[in-house]
Amino acid sequence: MQTPDRILDSLRRCCAAATDPRRGKNTTYDLADYALAGFALFYQQNPSFLAHQQHLATQHGHSNGETLFGMRRIPGEGQVRAMLDPIAPSQFYPVFADLLAELERCGGLDTLRCLDQRVLIALDGTEFHCSDKLHCLNCSHRKRGKDGIEYYHTMLAATLVAPGHNRAVPLEPEFVQPVDGHAKQDCESRAARRWLAAHGAAHARLRPVYLGDDLFSRQPIGAAVQAVGGHFLFVCKPDSHPTIEEYRTGIALDTLTTKARRGRKTVTHRYRWLCGVPLRGDAKAITVNWLMIEMRDPAGKITYRNSFITDLPVDRSNVADLAACGRARWKIENEGFNTLKTKGYNLEHNFGHGKRYLSMVMATLNLLAFACHTVCDLGEPLWQAARSKTGTRARFFHRLATLTAYLLFPSWEHLLETLAFVRPPPRAVSAHTRPHRPPIKPTNPARRITRQIIMRIAAPRVTSPAERERWKMRPFTRLPCRSLAAAAKGSRGKAQAASASSPRPPRPAAADRP
Ligand SMILES: [Zn+2]
Repeated sequence: MQTPDRILDSLRRCCAAATDPRRGKNTTYDLADYALAGFALFYQQNPSFLAHQQHLATQHGHSNGETLFGMRRIPGEGQVRAMLDPIAPSQFYPVFADLLAELERCGGLDTLRCLDQRVLIALDGTEFHCSDKLHCLNCSHRKRGKDGIEYYHTMLAATLVAPGHNRAVPLEPEFVQPVDGHAKQDCESRAARRWLAAHGAAHARLRPVYLGDDLFSRQPIGAAVQAVGGHFLFVCKPDSHPTIEEYRTGIALDTLTTKARRGRKTVTHRYRWLCGVPLRGDAKAITVNWLMIEMRDPAGKITYRNSFITDLPVDRSNVADLAACGRARWKIENEGFNTLKTKGYNLEHNFGHGKRYLSMVMATLNLLAFACHTVCDLGEPLWQAARSKTGTRARFFHRLATLTAYLLFPSWEHLLETLAFVRPPPRAVSAHTRPHRPPIKPTNPARRITRQIIMRIAAPRVTSPAERERWKMRPFTRLPCRSLAAAAKGSRGKAQAASASSPRPPRPAAADRP
């Protein structure tokens, strides 16, 4: 079984456990069919995928929706939107846990480990819907102009990143949305604390270090991270942390200077750190360690400077690694959001807004598809072979869409082997998958009506099924037109006269007679 099969199984299990919002006995489609159909759009990166598969199913009896995604039937896009709207996005979160387990199983997680076998989880918010008209019960809103109101959706994304690694694996998101009991609008900071409360304990076994921008380097989030057994490494701007600035002013800081090659140039990295400073000015402040990195070009000009706070010990041996990990926070933007918004996933596109959860469910399925692709990139050999043969990401998905539009693949293994050029594509769909059906003879309405008339005349005398079939296939043009006109009037006598003047059908065989 391939990684995509295992992930799709997981999605199916989620749907089986979800509460079906339908009432009544209409079970033409399983609930899983709708979720799998929504997921398939993002997984295939092909908005016409369902239409193509419906066409295949109509013409040939089967489709890739059944063989690859395990759908019982292919629902229409409107049905998918209507059925996914009442389902909360959290129903799909167990699939992220299975994706993480899959990443561990295939060894992909080991490539992301750093800082003594820890993993880095970057937290950051991103907006994925904005409109002055379309809105739902879970939209946030803000003023625009004098009387205008703008509706938007934001989510807090948690993503596995690593310095020097060009892949980012998204984990469960937390949506910024109106929360019961809160008069104020929701915000990233609250969403981050909700995320930590909901998922932090489950990820504690990974020994996580949480990364975040200056917005996160506050006491409530630092305390929430420590409460779930994690560590933090947040950006700390001097302007927003006056207490730390006061402490480090006038102190001779520990310093480490290193040289590094950047192409033909040699750049200088200077690290400074200070341990045991309070995060804020009151008595309850937690104690953190502060570090800073400064990069200078050969002319001595500063090209980069940033500072961080962490609850991990900082010393001469690890300050450079800590600074590199702190800088890896940007990968959630570059490898995560940028890919999701501009590299085929179109996260900001309105795939359907609905009245309750649809917008968030679509974003979740999109994230799931991206996570599944990344896990396959990191640990599925057949997928890696297919990707390496097709070159760019866009070309890979273009070929995937083209092949599945016209050919029926029995499994992911066959499809990926075809994309990797190690197995020829399956034969045309009708050759081996279409159920046997008798050939349909081309006909026109006039000819069909005439056959019915002839059958009405001949039926009393032609009793065996074989004989009746032979009559159906008999070319009517040999019959005289006058006899047809008589038959159309429905007169028994005239019809008999007509049949007498027409070539009589052969007498039934003895075995066929009653
Ligand atoms: Zn909305």
